[in-house]
Amino acid sequence: MKSLGIGLIGTGYMGKCHALAWNAVAPTFGDVARPKLVHLGEANESLATRKAAELGFARASGDWRAVVEDPEVDVVSITTPNQFHAEMTIAALQAGKHVWCEKPMATSEADALAMLVAAQASGKVAALGYNYIQNPAVRHMRALIGQGAIGTVNHVRVEMDEDFMADASAPFGWKSEAASGYGALDDFAVHPLSLLTVLVGRVTSVVVDMAKPYAERPLASGGSRAVETHDIANILFRLESGASGSLLVNRSAWGRKGRIAIQIFGSEGALLYDQERMNELQLFQARGPVAEQGFRTILTGTAHPPYDRFIPAPGHGLGFNDLKVIEARELMRRIAGEPAHLIEFATGLQIERAVHAMARSHAMRGWVDVPE
Ligand code: NAD
Repeated sequence: MKSLGIGLIGTGYMGKCHALAWNAVAPTFGDVARPKLVHLGEANESLATRKAAELGFARASGDWRAVVEDPEVDVVSITTPNQFHAEMTIAALQAGKHVWCEKPMATSEADALAMLVAAQASGKVAALGYNYIQNPAVRHMRALIGQGAIGTVNHVRVEMDEDFMADASAPFGWKSEAASGYGALDDFAVHPLSLLTVLVGRVTSVVVDMAKPYAERPLASGGSRAVETHDIANILFRLESGASGSLLVNRSAWGRKGRIAIQIFGSEGALLYDQERMNELQLFQARGPVAEQGFRTILTGTAHPPYDRFIPAPGHGLGFNDLKVIEARELMRRIAGEPAHLIEFATGLQIERAVHAMARSHAMRGWVDVPE
């Protein structure tokens, strides 16, 4: 496979994560050509130039269009705020580039659909940044469920909490603007939805209540501005299988740093996982003497691919950024025409439809079916 030319738009939290992944994917996996970091785009020229030097990109632009139009770029990583995803993605696909766009796919269902249509028309690979599904621990949970280790899944609970918006005095930012979406639904719920998709299947109906812990936030320039998004959402759902579930998300939850706590209950056992302890999972199997039954902790290691690509020693642990390295390898696999473990735009649109159904449910105060 020839070396892929990489374009990157946005260099904040996720932009750096993508850049690290593109830098690390070849040495980590050892079976792909090292991507060429060709062109980086930022909101202005000076930031672009500084970040290109830091992250190892050959060219820098203050205009993102120069990145998608660069003939040496094959894949564009889009890591800008949510409201830019649709326009940048569609332009990149129309310019003949593969796209790796951060979640959420878009801020409206119409935009997400337009992105899928553009991807299908281009014939290029279009994938989303749903890195948590790449964790070897999560992949192992999927394998265990597939092998029937916990029987038939009948109930699922997920909680996703962080505290980066818990401080009422933190300044108003783009995540509190309606232009970025609904709030905790697009920002957080989409991740658990990606996990549910790969572990237990599609969400088919929802009932939702959203909440705002703070009505307004201070502006950096002085004064304050009304908060337009909801930082909290409480969701009950049904899966295609008929199993019931709940999903609680809160980005103003003091003390929680990166919690995605999953409990999956089946007819013969249960599985537990929490992203804050991302190198372990817990398995309960209703087997053997009752007096000896209990959850056992499985630490991930070389028996849980692709952990072995990172470290030869079990139990030493991967980190959040490593999940992006795995996602980059899967994307490269898909570009090479091989099967890959990725959330592409068709599945991404299903996740978006669930999010918009959740918002409709909150507005109408009742159960809503998620369109397929
Ligand atoms: P951020 O604010 O840290 O970074 C955004 C970057 O985009 C900034 O560097 C900004 O200057 C740049 N930017 C803004 N407008 C631009 C423009 N017109 N042209 C070029 N660059 C522009 O934000 P973030 O936390 O990195 O979030 C970015 C995206 O990543 C969001 O959609 C978010 O939902 C997603 N995200 C995903 C994960 C994950 O786990 N997959 C985690 C965090 C964020």
